[in-house]
Amino acid sequence: MNTLSQHGSRHAFDVLVIGSGIAGLSFCLELLQLRPKTRIALISKVQLSESNSYYAQGGIAAVSSPEDAIAAHEKDTLLSGDGLSNTKAVNTILTEAPGYVEKLSQYGVQFDQGLAQEGGHSHRRIFHSGDQTGRAVIDTLLARIREHTHIDIFESHMAVNLLVQHTPHQPGNHGEVVGAYILDTSTSLIDTFLAKVTVLATGGAGKIYRYTTNPDVATGDGLAMAYRAGVRVGNLEFYQFHPTLLYHPECRNFLISEAVRGEGAYLRLPKTDERFMQRYAPEQMELATRDVVAHAIFTEIERSDYNYVELDITHQPKAFLEKRFPNTYRTLLTLGIDMSTDKIPVVPAAHYQCGGILTDTCGHTDKQRLYAIGEVAFTGLHGANRLASNSLVEAGVMAVFAAKDCVKWLDEKQSAAFSNLTAKINDWDSKGVTDLRRASQINAHWRSLRGEMTSYAGIVRTEAGLKDLLRLILTRSQMIEEYYWKHLITRDLLELRNIILVAELIVRSALQRRESRGGHYREDYPDKVEQQLETILQLDSFREY
Ligand SMILES: Cc1cc2nc3c(=O)[nH]c(=O)nc-3n(C[C@H](O)[C@H](O)[C@H](O)COP(=O)(O)OP(=O)(O)OC[C@H]3O[C@@H](n4cnc5c(N)ncnc54)[C@H](O)[C@@H]3O)c2cc1C
Repeated sequence: MNTLSQHGSRHAFDVLVIGSGIAGLSFCLELLQLRPKTRIALISKVQLSESNSYYAQGGIAAVSSPEDAIAAHEKDTLLSGDGLSNTKAVNTILTEAPGYVEKLSQYGVQFDQGLAQEGGHSHRRIFHSGDQTGRAVIDTLLARIREHTHIDIFESHMAVNLLVQHTPHQPGNHGEVVGAYILDTSTSLIDTFLAKVTVLATGGAGKIYRYTTNPDVATGDGLAMAYRAGVRVGNLEFYQFHPTLLYHPECRNFLISEAVRGEGAYLRLPKTDERFMQRYAPEQMELATRDVVAHAIFTEIERSDYNYVELDITHQPKAFLEKRFPNTYRTLLTLGIDMSTDKIPVVPAAHYQCGGILTDTCGHTDKQRLYAIGEVAFTGLHGANRLASNSLVEAGVMAVFAAKDCVKWLDEKQSAAFSNLTAKINDWDSKGVTDLRRASQINAHWRSLRGEMTSYAGIVRTEAGLKDLLRLILTRSQMIEEYYWKHLITRDLLELRNIILVAELIVRSALQRRESRGGHYREDYPDKVEQQLETILQLDSFREY
């Protein structure tokens, strides 16, 4: 049947939380501790546990041993940020980090005895649960969430757009967010969620690139929604690539942790077995920083007939590998790879969005009543390159701050926030919906865009390539906008629309930054420039939606 995109139900809550990763869940739990009767709607695109957070392996960085110090954690973070970190944000978040880890323990997260060490950290300060830290954290937080009766959970619901109420007569007021349109993917109806406070906790956008460690939900939705609403975004050129994603047709998105190289794995070229890192970082070899290793692998793959390189840890005993990397060992074995005897095919993959929606450490955005927390936000902690294991803790600390801060909106009367909404909601009815665009055509756009982003705006970038890509993106986005306004709204189409917008923003940011720094490498501008500015974009700067 040719269904139109129609209005579904209308809901009113105190707080609308979009996203159920570590940021969204921590926010809900903190708020309910402060205000146990707050009515919260928790929205999640698929099932609650599906998020970047769930797949985090390594752990959570926080200072806890007497030999370590917050100042040392700050120093490591700033070094990794390559001159672009916001020192105030670094200090605030890292100072709160131990308290947040303590909170997780109180919620019931079981961390292993002994702290781990990771690349770029000068001390052992990584709290972890085997090599499945994210799963341990999310399972525990979800168990606590389910104990609360004041949270209404909406799985298989995808936020589409923010509801913004403009107040033109107040100078300096950029409007406030009073909720969001949400697609119920099981009914294809668009529900209206009104709230006194809206929280974007939608994570990253790894799906923009052909290879990513992120699960399918990571399509930059929150960033795109905020941008369309006129909120500033920043430093999007800094997408961190992880050097070693498993390359296997039956298993997408499986990360081979850096710890495997930490335990002595070699990177080799297929067939010749050459340890090619000798040509890129003769001293550190496989233990060079993430960006150096990712760059080297990318270059070797581009030069060769292979689509991957190989990670070789066959010189370590089987018993050690089984104990040290239980999940990795088991997963590879199900795919026919025994890491104690076989080399592991790997590619570099989009991993972490260092920029995002401009916020402070409390998650304040340009719009009143709108908070952005976690990977979707850009506090300045990560600068040009994220230090390993600093993102889970950033998401958690921001969630706690944002929960405390948003209480100020909860005592206000709803009516003040929700007047004048009817006209905007009715906008949906003006859509001239025709027939259903075939899924394969949407998929073709997806595939092409992800390939183009990888080749032109991935690990190595040039002015000419970025400009060509921008032309391709603009043509594509015109078509997608047309689909959006004329066809049934599906999750795939909405995600594609968001991905294309975020791709455009990444390319525009990468064009603006004529230097190489952190995770952004311009072949035509290989050096750093002295002036260190953030790349800020806002809707009016070049296009209206
Ligand atoms: C494989 C992997 C390993 C990692 N390892 C580590 C590590 O060891 N240490 C570390 O610190 N960091 C690690 N990271 C990074 C870290 O996991 C993320 O930065 C962090 O989990 C982000 O948390 P979040 O809550 O902001 O977003 P996420 O955990 O990604 O959650 C986003 C949520 O938003 C939902 N969502 C998105 N769009 C919509 C929409 N339109 N409508 C409704 N819901 C929506 C999603 O379904 C999901 O529930 C890793 C990341 C990956 C992918």
